[in-house]
Formats: sequence, C-alpha cells, structure tokens
Amino acid sequence: MALTGVQIFKLLPKTNCKKCGFPTCLAFAMALAQAKVDLAKCPDVSEEAKKTLGEASAPPIRTFNLGTGEKAVKMGGETVLFRHDKKFFNPCALAVNIKDNSSDDELVKIATGVVSSEMDRVGQKLRVDAISVEYASGNVSQYEKAVKLVAEKAPDAALILNCKDAAAAESAVKAVAARKPLLYGAAAENAEAMAAIAKTHGVPLCACAQGLDALSALTEKLQGLGINDLVLDSGAKTAKEIIEHNTQIRRSALKKGFKPLGFPILNCVIRDGSAFEAAVATVSIAKYASIVVLSSIEKWKDLALFTLRQNIYTDPQVPMQVEQKIYKIGEPSAASPLMITTNFSLTYFIVSGEVENSKVPSRLAVMDSEGLSVLTAWAAGKFTAAKIAQFIKDSGIESEITHKELIIPGQVAILSGALEDKLEGWKIVVGPREANAIPTFLKTRAS
Ligand code: SF4
Repeated sequence: MALTGVQIFKLLPKTNCKKCGFPTCLAFAMALAQAKVDLAKCPDVSEEAKKTLGEASAPPIRTFNLGTGEKAVKMGGETVLFRHDKKFFNPCALAVNIKDNSSDDELVKIATGVVSSEMDRVGQKLRVDAISVEYASGNVSQYEKAVKLVAEKAPDAALILNCKDAAAAESAVKAVAARKPLLYGAAAENAEAMAAIAKTHGVPLCACAQGLDALSALTEKLQGLGINDLVLDSGAKTAKEIIEHNTQIRRSALKKGFKPLGFPILNCVIRDGSAFEAAVATVSIAKYASIVVLSSIEKWKDLALFTLRQNIYTDPQVPMQVEQKIYKIGEPSAASPLMITTNFSLTYFIVSGEVENSKVPSRLAVMDSEGLSVLTAWAAGKFTAAKIAQFIKDSGIESEITHKELIIPGQVAILSGALEDKLEGWKIVVGPREANAIPTFLKTRAS
C-alpha cells in the first residue's frame, strides 16, 4: 500500500532544513505522497527510511520499454484515471499477431507491413509498433525460425513472443533476446518455467490469468520469483470486460496503491480483422491498455486507431504546436512568395499542405502564437501587427529575399494597415480567408 503524507513525514529527518526546495519536511512528505517529487531531493534521509520510502514513492504503475532502440515503446508510468486531471503519458503500442505456421510469404508480409505502417500526422510519426508471433505449430524449431524471420524483416519493431510452451519460448527468446521481446504466456501452471526464462534473458513477462483475483495472485508469485517487468492480461475479451478489468486495474494501482496490479495492461482484441475488431480496440486504447494486439493491420484501421491514440495521449491543456521559424515549401527562390500563419499544428499542416498543392515554391513564416489558430490568436492578442512585425524583423528573412511582400491570412485582413506602418517599406497582401483557396491564389499571382 502507498504511504500517506503523514506516514512519510514520520520517516523524514524533520529538521525543516529546506535543502529539498520545500519549506518544511511535511510539505515535502505531502508532495512525495502524490508522486510529485523524487525522494532523492532530500539528502539527509536515512538508509532505513530510504528503503521504506523508496518502495512507497515508486511509480504506482511500473514503467519499462517494449522493444529496444529509437522505436521502443515506453509503457506504464501513468498517474491519473482521467486525462483531464493531468494527461496520459505513454501512448499504447499497437501490435499485430501472426501464427508461426503461416507461410514465409505471410510472415514477411506482416513484418514489412509493420515497417511501412508509419505515417506522419500533424508532425508526429505514428506506426504499428509491435509484432506478436504466436506459437501455433507445436514445433519448437519452426517457432524459432518464424520469430527470427519476422525479427529480421522488421528490424525496429518490438516483438511479442506469444507462447506458453517453455521449450519453444526458451529457444525463441534466446534467438532474439537482444531485441528485449515481451514473453507472453506466464500462467499459473507454467509460472516458474516462464519466470526462469525471463530472468535468464532479462526480458519482460506477461502474466495471463482469468480475472483480477487470479491475476494478482500470479503477479505476486512472479515477483516472488524475481520478475519485476510485468505486463497484465486479465483475459478480458469483450468491450465490457475490457472496460471493467482495465478500469479496476488502473483504479487499484492509482487509488489504492495495490502493487500486484501496478503494471501495464495488454488487451488481445483478436477477432476477424473486421471493423468490429477495430471498434473493440478503440475501447482498449481509450481505457488504459498499454498494448493492444490485433489480428491484422490495414491502412483504414491503422489511421483510425492512430488518430484516436494520438488524441488521447496529447496534453488536453496544451495545444499542439510546431516550431516557430520560416519553413521552405518546395525550393523557393529569393523572389518566391512569403506567407505568414500561426504555430497551431493543424493550422500549419493545413496551410503548408495547400501551399504544396499549389506547386508554387514559397516560404511560410510560422509565428509562435502559443499553439492558437489564426483568429483565436488574433483575438487573444498573440498575433498582432506589432508581434508579426517584430517576428519578421528578427527572423532575418529580409536578407534572404529580393522583395518585401508579406501575405497574411484573409481572416486578419484588418491587420494590413497597422502592419504596413510597423514594417517600413513592406507591402502587405491579404491572402485567402480559407486555406483551400491558397492554391488558386498562389497560381494566379505566379501566372
Ligand atoms: S531536505 Fe529533507 S530534512 Fe530538509 S526539509 Fe526537505 S525533507 Fe526535510
């Protein structure tokens, strides 16, 4: 159980020395109880208290990576039940399952499909993250061969070894141990053998049970066997079970400090690859899964799930923004048009997309408006004539271009006079009100 602020306070030095940055030991204890500060900030805490408090101040949901390298997926570490309370931190991994008795062509097709699933949406790279290889053949060497083939063809994807047979699991884990695969398949009947494999090769282990009582008994047993990087599969299959189990797991870990369920969740939503399967996956994504295993991947499904995941894991209090700078679209010359807009991601991607569609090489000045769209930024005083003029002057663009003409969004046409006053020698051109009119606008001017 997590300790309360008062219980933590009793273990601190109680000198109120302020070295931790808090005015009193009690204030530090309260912050520690809410996991808002690291115990290491207090340099005077005793070794004994460190041990007790270290356990109490550990994140309520254990954090570790699925896979290795740049595309490893960080799991766990969540601190709230509801996104609007703070934010959700670590987007869930999407995985596709394939049986080891599939043909080599099918195995390669899945692996290459995962590699090519990556897409760019509002400046973020979104992808299917993992491949689950299921032991269906009953043949240990065939399983190892299939795992190796998938690993080779998808060198950056995380791997899940879906196998409850200890001999097959041992040989497959050994073959790809450097990729830190998740070994899926520790159950009550094979816990010792699977824990031994996970421990020997240093890989995370998924505990599989039917229901939360059996699951917590299993994770306690696995922890007793020295396994700390655990993933939970409660056996939930229907949307109703997924919501119920996942919510109880998250609530138990966060609100009750119940350590046996303080781990990332895996939901296997495999059905027939239909829209219904995708719909069940959306429930998992929305309600706390760290890994969602699907039967197939296709562009239509990927796009829907990626978009949902991206929206759930953005900070609701911070608009998505792009960097303030002057972006080149195409290969603009010194005479090419210069346009300006705000740094709200959607605004930037819509405007830059339409400039690209025009095929007229241009420069797009993107000004920091704290992530607000054009009209909102103008209304909030963040996209004013004075600020735009300052940004243009500071950008150094005048030395790069041979004209002094700035195209502003039609929605802020009202700024044109004030801008000409503040940007001496510049001509302000009012562009279209809507982004979809940009191609015609630019083409007409270029002709
Ligand atoms: S540094 Fe430690 S002893 Fe000093 S005020 Fe903070 S908690 Fe108390």
